[in-house]
Amino acid sequence: MKETPPAKTTATAKAPAAKKAVANKTVAKKTAATKTVAKKAVTKKAAAKKTAPAKTSAAAKKTAPGKTAPARKPESRTAMVRRARRINRELAELYPYAHPELDFTNPFELLVATVLSAQTTDLRVNQTTPRLFARCPTPEDMAAMPPEELEELIRPTGFFRAKTKSLLGLSAALRDRFDGKVPGRLEDLVTLPGVGRKTANVVLGNAFGVPGITVDTHFGRLARRFGWTTAEDAEKVEADVAAIFPKSEWTMLSHRVVFHGRRVCHSRKPACGACAIAPLCPAYGEGETDPDKAKKLLKYELGGQPGQRLKPPPGYPGQPAPPLAAP
Ligand code: SF4
Repeated sequence: MKETPPAKTTATAKAPAAKKAVANKTVAKKTAATKTVAKKAVTKKAAAKKTAPAKTSAAAKKTAPGKTAPARKPESRTAMVRRARRINRELAELYPYAHPELDFTNPFELLVATVLSAQTTDLRVNQTTPRLFARCPTPEDMAAMPPEELEELIRPTGFFRAKTKSLLGLSAALRDRFDGKVPGRLEDLVTLPGVGRKTANVVLGNAFGVPGITVDTHFGRLARRFGWTTAEDAEKVEADVAAIFPKSEWTMLSHRVVFHGRRVCHSRKPACGACAIAPLCPAYGEGETDPDKAKKLLKYELGGQPGQRLKPPPGYPGQPAPPLAAP
């Protein structure tokens, strides 16, 4: 923050002080001036605090290249929660069409697609699953499939041997232990082969309407940039974020944050100069701040490119993804 220019402030203070000086002493003049300066400084400090706490930090980063930024007063828990909820509201305005980016028509398809999405893009999964679900639409069909055939079908998603093992295991477990249906409880879902907490939360939130926070690589990165957590561990991130937002927001919050991470707040080069929530983000300046250059970094519908779903839900303003190109 800039210091109050001394000359200007003294001049402002002079008028009221001068009258007193005629009747009284120079001491009184000095006291009045000091008080005015102090008052002004406090007012400025309060204004700066209220209007742009995030901007102050970004400015500090920019104005002192190569130097350590002056220590900033830590944000109170109440202020952080208020700012976090405002980010969520802004993201809701920005992405009213936010949704899971895997194509599915029932809980089984979503479960399989989520298992396949490990270490690859949702786009690649969406391009792979139409053939897979046409060949084995139920857990019974999938459990009875020869491993080599399943491997061939899911090969484009990578790690296809391990994923085949998981899919055969989970579809047999669904057939044998859950009457061929995907269970709607976290404690049951995580007993299925290849299903961790993240996959379970995706399925619960999007196929069963059970609120859940999905901490994938995008969500974790943005939660840390927003200052909602300092944790790297997904379960800890989930717990920290859960303590900030009401349960009813968890599923949509996850979609919005992931949408923003994929489109604007990229891992290596966030498009800060084209980011609608920059004034609320303590990490502003980590990426490209030039608006024109930042705009070029935007992806999917914001960058005029196709999305990840071959069948996006109604209301999605971008173009659908193309099917898998023939080999
Ligand atoms: S793009 Fe920049 S300003 Fe926007 S959320 Fe990411 S780090 Fe913050």
